[in-house]
Amino acid sequence: MSDYVNSFMARLQAKNPGETEFLQAAQEVSESLALVLDRHPEYQSAGIMERIVEPERVIMFRVPWVDDQGGIQVNRGFRIEMNSAIGPYKGGLRFHPSVNLGILKFLAFEQVFKNSLTTLPMGGGKGGCDFDPKGKSNNEVMRFCQSFMTELYRHIGPNTDVPAGDIGVGGREIGFLFGQYKRLRNEFTGVLTGKGLNWGGSLIRPEATGYGCVYFAAEMLATRNETFEGKTCLVSGSGNVSQYTTEKLLELGGKVVTMSDSDGYIYDEEGIDSKKLAFIMDLKNVKRARIKVYAEKYPNAVYTPIDRSNDHNPLWDHKADCAFPSATQNEINTKDAQNLVKNGVYVIGEGANMPTEPDGVKLFIDEKVLYGPGKAANAGGVAVSGLEMAQNSMRLPWTRQEVDKRLNLIMKSIHATCVECADRFGTPGNYVNGANIGGFLKVADAMMDQGIV
Ligand code: NAP
Repeated sequence: MSDYVNSFMARLQAKNPGETEFLQAAQEVSESLALVLDRHPEYQSAGIMERIVEPERVIMFRVPWVDDQGGIQVNRGFRIEMNSAIGPYKGGLRFHPSVNLGILKFLAFEQVFKNSLTTLPMGGGKGGCDFDPKGKSNNEVMRFCQSFMTELYRHIGPNTDVPAGDIGVGGREIGFLFGQYKRLRNEFTGVLTGKGLNWGGSLIRPEATGYGCVYFAAEMLATRNETFEGKTCLVSGSGNVSQYTTEKLLELGGKVVTMSDSDGYIYDEEGIDSKKLAFIMDLKNVKRARIKVYAEKYPNAVYTPIDRSNDHNPLWDHKADCAFPSATQNEINTKDAQNLVKNGVYVIGEGANMPTEPDGVKLFIDEKVLYGPGKAANAGGVAVSGLEMAQNSMRLPWTRQEVDKRLNLIMKSIHATCVECADRFGTPGNYVNGANIGGFLKVADAMMDQGIV
């Protein structure tokens, strides 16, 4: 079967040159799926693999806008509509200068499996723009979002494609995007998730990815009869996912000692308690300032700026039990993975998408680390987006307790699916295979039922 994977990947590389992250994601998934294709040749003869890696549609468009100085700016917008076999396309929008086709295709591809794992009827998509919201005024962000939506609106809809937030797209951006969609379409629908509570949003949606990631990691720990009580945790990033991962870890008795942004990280040996976390939330969500300011406010903490010539990230080189990479893709390289294992880390919950490079993943699996890959561990965000869509359709909001309870049950179910599929296909304890296979089967069967489309 490895012959099949090799020739499949060679064809994919030839067809998608330079799309490094997409090829990395496809390689990992196809290695897991080799186990399935061996037992189910019908998927191979139906060309499921060849079809699942090809987006159903890619939209790429110009986003012109005028900055505060009257200058004309032009960005490039994208929406990847990857797979709609089990529901409308669903996945976030990322606004970051690094955004390109390969990164968004990797994210859309991962999203297909992740959404399937949630048990909810959602297909996979992803989009975004090479726009950098950092340093822009509110008015500039609004004008940009309005221009972005002026093209995107014709491709999306509550039964077609329902975007949400991701890096650089939070409540503020979703508000501007929703306002423009409503104006252009003249209809109030659940076309985006992550909306404000007064206008169709769901309780717990902002918290969902971080909370869900901790719920998933708690399930992994429970397989060894352990909890988070007294565990030291490393968290990277300081955005949406990191903030609520930290909040839930504190609630469950964990101690969080690091957080970061793209300029550097802070190490607080005493632990980031809830008062300090509130300071970080205000710093990041309201003041939109840098994490460095934390060490000025709390002088016992140490700030280390990023040194790009370094072969590893010192954030991952502290004694700890658990790590929650929650910033971006490939933030843990092989050396970082070695440092984590050397320092005693044996639980990893990936809040970010594909934050670990492939050799790091192999090391975690070989070392029997409880390693929860992003497409399973961070599925709580899109799961609550699915619950937001359900509430929008019913025009009835659920309470905080109701949504949190459903999120917890969904994370437990994703964990159980991963464990069951890993066992069934002969690799017990391997959450990577479990997640890839569990996510794949439902989508593949739906594609088989629906003919060659
Ligand atoms: P966010 O609120 O924009 O925060 C991103 C954080 O990561 C910020 O602290 C940012 O620092 C840092 N970061 C971003 N790019 C970086 C880079 N290239 N190098 C170093 N640090 C970087 O975004 P988020 O929603 O928390 O998303 C974080 C990760 O979680 C992403 O991988 C995303 O795909 C994944 N995820 C998010 C959701 C969700 O519901 N939001 C769901 C599932 C998965 P700066 O402020 O300096 O840029």
